[in-house]
Amino acid sequence: MNILAVGAHPDDIEISCAGTLSKLKQAGHHVVLCHVCKGDKGHYHISAPELTEIRRKEAQAAGAVIGSEVLTLEFGDGEVIADNQENRIRFLDMVRYAKPDIVITHAQNDYMPDHIAVSQLVFYATFFATLPNFKTKQPPLEKVPALYYMDNLSGLEFQPTFYVDISDHLETKLDMLRKHQSQLVWLQEHDGVDIVDFVTTFAKTRGIQAGCKYAEGFIQHLVWTRPNAVRFPV
Ligand SMILES: [Zn+2]
Repeated sequence: MNILAVGAHPDDIEISCAGTLSKLKQAGHHVVLCHVCKGDKGHYHISAPELTEIRRKEAQAAGAVIGSEVLTLEFGDGEVIADNQENRIRFLDMVRYAKPDIVITHAQNDYMPDHIAVSQLVFYATFFATLPNFKTKQPPLEKVPALYYMDNLSGLEFQPTFYVDISDHLETKLDMLRKHQSQLVWLQEHDGVDIVDFVTTFAKTRGIQAGCKYAEGFIQHLVWTRPNAVRFPV
C-alpha cells in the first residue's frame, strides 16, 4: 500500500505517528512524509531563513531513518489558511503525487491553528483528488483514499478508535524525533517540555490502554465515500 502522512510542521509526524510509519515501512509498504510548513518560526535565536534550511535537513534526516521520501509544501509557520482555493489545489496536487491508499494527518480539533487548517485541507484534497476537472500537474487519483487522524498532542479530546503496537518501533520513532535537534531546544525553551520524554511517556500511556508496552492511537474518518474497508495493514 501507499501511505501518506501529512503534518503541519517538521516533527509533528514524528511526535504522533512515526512508530506506526516505521512498522508500515518494515512491512514493505511505501511511506511518504509531508510537512506542510517550513518550520521557519520555531526558535528564539535562529533567523527564519536559516532555520528553514536547518529544518529541511532535519526533516530529511528523520525520513532517512526509515528510508522514506520527505516532501514539503513550504508554507510559512502560522500561515496555513484552509479557506483558500490556491492552497487547496496545492494540497490536491501533493496528494495526487503520493497516490495514497491511506492518508494520516492531524485531527480536526488539535491544539494549533496550522494543525487544524492542515486537517481541513487534507480532507478537502483527498476528497477532490479523483475529479479530473481539477487540473493540476499530477493526474487524478483513481479512488478516494482512506483517512486517519493521528493523536492530538498529549491526547486531549482524542479517543482512539484503534491502536498500533509500536513496542518494537519506539526507538526508531525516537531516533527520528532526535533528528529535529532544533526543536528539542525550542520546545524546552518555549514550552518547558523534554519532547523525547514527553513522547515516550505518552506512547507508554497509549500502550497501557492498548495492552502492550508502547502504542500510538488513531481515529479513522468514517464517512460516506471513504473506503471503510481499507484498514491499517499492521
Ligand atoms: Zn506542529
